[in-house]
Amino acid sequence: MLSKEKRALVAEIMRRGGTLLAEPCPKCGGIMIKYKGKTFCPNCDNINSLEELEGKTESKPTDLQEINELILKRLLSVLKQQTDDEKVSIVALNYLNALKILKEMQTKNER
Ligand SMILES: [Zn+2]
Repeated sequence: MLSKEKRALVAEIMRRGGTLLAEPCPKCGGIMIKYKGKTFCPNCDNINSLEELEGKTESKPTDLQEINELILKRLLSVLKQQTDDEKVSIVALNYLNALKILKEMQTKNER
């Protein structure tokens, strides 16, 4: 039997688009939930908050992808605003360097 807190959490996950799986949990025979591409058992997996669950499902490449987009956005705004070519090239180089390091990090994570 799930605790009141766990039941509330399950309800919240369902509200956010989680789905109940047809197969029961192999460990306890209880309900299994699929959320953001991950399946878990509210009974066996020690998940106490939605943040915890989302933190687990968000993989590092996603974070890096976000940083990647932010850097590109920043670079674009600098290119638009700055008229001094020399300054632009220095800034652009810095951003491109950051992107290069980021890409290396992404490749490492994929392996
Ligand atoms: Zn279970």
